[in-house]
Amino acid sequence: MPRFRALTRVLVALLAFSTPALAQPQPRGLKVFISVDMEGLAGVVASADVSPGAPDYPHFRTIMAGETNAAIEGAFRAGATEVLVRDSHGDKRNLLPADVDPRARLLRGASSGPKNMLEGIDSTFDAVVFIGYHARAGTPGAILEHTSTGNVVDFAINGVSLPEGGYNALTAGLYGVPVVFIAGDRAVVDQVRALLGPIGAVAVKEEIGGDASLGMSPKRAQDEIRLGVEQAIRNRARARVYKLSAPYTMVLKVKQERPLHPGAQRVRDGEFTFTSPDLLAVLAAFNAMK
Ligand SMILES: [Zn+2]
Repeated sequence: MPRFRALTRVLVALLAFSTPALAQPQPRGLKVFISVDMEGLAGVVASADVSPGAPDYPHFRTIMAGETNAAIEGAFRAGATEVLVRDSHGDKRNLLPADVDPRARLLRGASSGPKNMLEGIDSTFDAVVFIGYHARAGTPGAILEHTSTGNVVDFAINGVSLPEGGYNALTAGLYGVPVVFIAGDRAVVDQVRALLGPIGAVAVKEEIGGDASLGMSPKRAQDEIRLGVEQAIRNRARARVYKLSAPYTMVLKVKQERPLHPGAQRVRDGEFTFTSPDLLAVLAAFNAMK
């Protein structure tokens, strides 16, 4: 029975190879999601700085790539195996693909889904990083504060008034992913830490009255972001996943009313509510009426 013995030997060899793989699950990679806006970048003080077609926009676009690449480098130094960058400003076509560190994947262009600035997030990620962020509409002492569009006066869920960093953290929280780091002006750092706890942060500038801002050089900001992101990802076990309890009731106040989203109620002039157990449905209502 030599043929049978040979077959047995092959089977035994196969089992010997396959058993350890079954017993020990493959180590998971470390996936980092980086959402990059522009108003909170080093040196930005006016909307013309971040508006395509304006003379200094190409300059600030380069600074955007610099802060993005600093965050990517920090993530890889902390052991990241995969990094996804989401361009999160305006039409989402500000980062020039060739300017971004080739180790990262770039999600570019406006998307139709409700995740918007967090398009691409899912439960396979381990940490979220915000770069270039700004405070919510109506924040005193902030640079270029607004919530998503210039039309939003306030956006709250379950009574919590939220900046973009707040509802984006809720979106990440839906998938069990914590936000571990934010870079932006002093006002957004304080505002987002008040919601999420003491996450890693770099305040690259601070409003000192009017449209004036005092801040770091882009080079210095990038050095601090690289180090801050690395530390924050290493310490990610300390960051909490941001959640509010379902059902989610939004109160949206706007300057100019948009058509009523299905299921939304108009409370008074410029004020709408919408309730759902599904956070993404609430964000879809917000996106439709903001
Ligand atoms: Zn923006």
